[in-house]
Amino acid sequence: MADRFYPNVFPDFVAEKRTVEEEQLHQPISQGTNESLSKLLTTPYHTLSEKFKRAALDLKETIVVETWGLTRQQVPDFTLYCGTLGTAFLLFKAYQVTQNTNDLAVCSQIVKDCDSASRHSRDVTFLCGRAGVCALGAVVAKYMGDDQLVFYYASQFKEIKLTKDLPDELLYGRAGYLWAFLFINRHIGKGTIPSTYTAAVINETIKNGRKLGGRGRSPLMYEWYGEMYWGAAHGLAGIMHVLMDFELEPDDLEDVKETLKYMVKNRFPSGNYPASEEDPRRDLLVHWCHGAPGIALTLVKAAEVFGDREFLNAAVDAAEVVWNRGLLKCAGLCHGISGNTYVFLSLYRLTGNVEYLYRAKAFACFLLDRAHRLIATGEMHGGDSPYSLFEGIAGMAYLFLDMTDPKNTRFPAYE
Ligand SMILES: [Zn+2]
Repeated sequence: MADRFYPNVFPDFVAEKRTVEEEQLHQPISQGTNESLSKLLTTPYHTLSEKFKRAALDLKETIVVETWGLTRQQVPDFTLYCGTLGTAFLLFKAYQVTQNTNDLAVCSQIVKDCDSASRHSRDVTFLCGRAGVCALGAVVAKYMGDDQLVFYYASQFKEIKLTKDLPDELLYGRAGYLWAFLFINRHIGKGTIPSTYTAAVINETIKNGRKLGGRGRSPLMYEWYGEMYWGAAHGLAGIMHVLMDFELEPDDLEDVKETLKYMVKNRFPSGNYPASEEDPRRDLLVHWCHGAPGIALTLVKAAEVFGDREFLNAAVDAAEVVWNRGLLKCAGLCHGISGNTYVFLSLYRLTGNVEYLYRAKAFACFLLDRAHRLIATGEMHGGDSPYSLFEGIAGMAYLFLDMTDPKNTRFPAYE
């Protein structure tokens, strides 16, 4: 089991220094040593924040070249999850942090190429489908002040057809379509896409959940390729997370709440969660996609929505699992250290407790200090799509940008 993650040898807490010491400025320390990591942890936050920003912007340049190219490469995979749209999403984030309009312009170009590449796609979600292209396209157009382009992408979004046999999960199903709707309306304005486009989708999702739920089980349950998953990517946590963003009927909301309570009640004694209903014994995975991290983010949201202490306590327990077993041998968002860091950021946002900021900083500094070397030597998986947002270093760059304003972070395309 131990080969899935690095043992966490971080102290419980390390105070930051008030100023950067002279010797720290002038004595270069080689990266990837215990000394360099503890120096980072004691660095005053405003200085550390600049380091994160610089690293993120350097990574961004590499990622744009590698995934899209200076000469406008073909787009073999348009998706936000592992493809070119993920680069556009990173550029949009960089624009939000630096206000560099050049990033916005390149982002818009990339979305345009993804628009062509996804025109015949049957996938409908934000992360893996056409809705992601249309939603990001409309929002970027809005920030560029191009109303015609906003209209174009919003119209394209309205053209998306959801088939009856669509699954309900976040990556390929209804929840992922609903997330794209939320993204557009939040950035451009309520009603940009009218709720008539989502009402039936929400009803269908609840109805499907009830069909498989009940009978001494969770009130809502879903299936994806024959497995009843619990995690954020394919299961309950992702679907409940999105449903909580909508104004639900009281009994629908009650079922969402009771579904989450069912999960908390049936978690592992460690505070971690099984990957699926059928696999309750293997306390192995501590990923955003499967296990405590993705579920913790949903529990933080549930604590906000329901004001229920039980959800906050469960999120705190899940964060403890992430702290102990979440320093994964992968850098990305989906099943890597970057994604797991968001658990601490989310709890920091909710509670204001600086110990969670410290934990986020510890994980992010670990990446800043040694991810490049560990990936280069093969000690850390680079992933099949090494520059992608969800499995590659674009996710790490996104996290570094978020670390410059840790009170206002959101797990990309989820929170
Ligand atoms: Zn994953």
